Amino acid sequence: VSLPPGFAERCAAVVGPDHVLGARAELEPYATDFWRHTRGEAALVLRPRDTAEVAAVVALAAGHRVPLVPQAGNTGLVGGGVPDASGGQVVLSLARLDRVRAVDPAGDALVAEAGCTLASVQAAAEAADRLFPLSLGSEGTCRIGGNLAANAGGINVIRYGMARDLCLGLEVVLADGRVWNGLRTLRKDNTGYDLKQLFLGSEGTLGVVTAASLRLFPRPRERATLFLGVDSPATAVELLGRARGRFGELVSAFELIVATCVEAAVEHVPGVRFPLAEKAPWYVLAEVAWSLPEGLEAAADAWLEAALEDGLILDATRAQSEAQRAMLWRMREGISEAATRLGAIARHDVAVPVARIPELVERGAAVLREVAPDAYLIPFGHVGDGNLHFNVVLPRDTADLPAVRQRLQTAVFDLVGGLGGSISAEHGIGRAKRAELHARKPALDLELMGRLKAALDPEGILNPGVIV
Ligand code: ZN
Repeated sequence: VSLPPGFAERCAAVVGPDHVLGARAELEPYATDFWRHTRGEAALVLRPRDTAEVAAVVALAAGHRVPLVPQAGNTGLVGGGVPDASGGQVVLSLARLDRVRAVDPAGDALVAEAGCTLASVQAAAEAADRLFPLSLGSEGTCRIGGNLAANAGGINVIRYGMARDLCLGLEVVLADGRVWNGLRTLRKDNTGYDLKQLFLGSEGTLGVVTAASLRLFPRPRERATLFLGVDSPATAVELLGRARGRFGELVSAFELIVATCVEAAVEHVPGVRFPLAEKAPWYVLAEVAWSLPEGLEAAADAWLEAALEDGLILDATRAQSEAQRAMLWRMREGISEAATRLGAIARHDVAVPVARIPELVERGAAVLREVAPDAYLIPFGHVGDGNLHFNVVLPRDTADLPAVRQRLQTAVFDLVGGLGGSISAEHGIGRAKRAELHARKPALDLELMGRLKAALDPEGILNPGVIV
């Protein structure tokens, strides 16, 4: 596949020749996803530096009917930010749009460009004595435009919601190259359809997010970070209920981790030690936080004591310093990578109603015995959101691994569907789950999604092959 004659030159006139990449070695990192599961072929990579340049190259692509793949930090897990294998798609990198345009502490808002790393947005909020609560393992590398386009989740969703809930407004380059300015910071704006919601979670298929206004929150001044050993997911769900009963909205994170994953992190993540005296089959990493300077740690200790007395916790610790707290979170965030040492991983980012988490784990084990008897489950994730990373370790020498992964995925998704759950909790659809989406979504849902796509991107140049 070759690009229309003159297209690359016209783009170079817009973004500068240094920011049109065409050599094979330069294209490779933009064409491969984080876990190296999806290897595409990029025809070209364009690196505009501001919204006007993005608009100009999208207009050029629309005129030439060149398909574009918007890409921010390229940390996505479903192949939504990498080109397909055709060699005809052009990657539109937003990485150089990396300015924080405004911080408004009085309005609890900031405006950041799409290429700002999540960590830099968090830092800008902190510099204004505010919190931007979106937090996930890749926060040093992922970029806010991608977080919003994919509606990222992470560890603080239980308290603050998904990326979608943290967004007050967007600036979007439409498929014809026009710029839609929806960059408002108002909390109240009931003037018709909420257009920004169309682009949040659309994975670059309806428009290219170039900037966003984001919600800020009061910064927590005291935190209690707890690490608990428990006997089962059912007990973890019970403890979640008790924690919310005692601390209400202050529960900021509530993670469930199977023992195998904690052991893998202790072994493979530098600086992580096992924090308890006693081992347990499951662990909970929970955090409560508030803006007052003291009182919460004592309340957390009393809560822990009562749960220990009632026999719900096998062993427990509360982080005694910021360093210990950081270590516990490094353990949690290191799990995905550490688990790759255990074998070949099959990943399933699924959600079920919180009360059905124990049933998901039990019935998932039965599914596994049937579909892949040599495999074992290593679930971990955001039990407070009903979202588990329901991952499976397969022997590395499994014959026809892609086919086994496929059979497993179908069986897990069938189970999740039966429990009233979702086949993608926080990672999106991308290219990887498109077929499953189309096989499982009701026909009317798919029809409405197709109509939105046709209305906003009639030529189909934005991220073809993703979602719709
Ligand atoms: Zn997660």
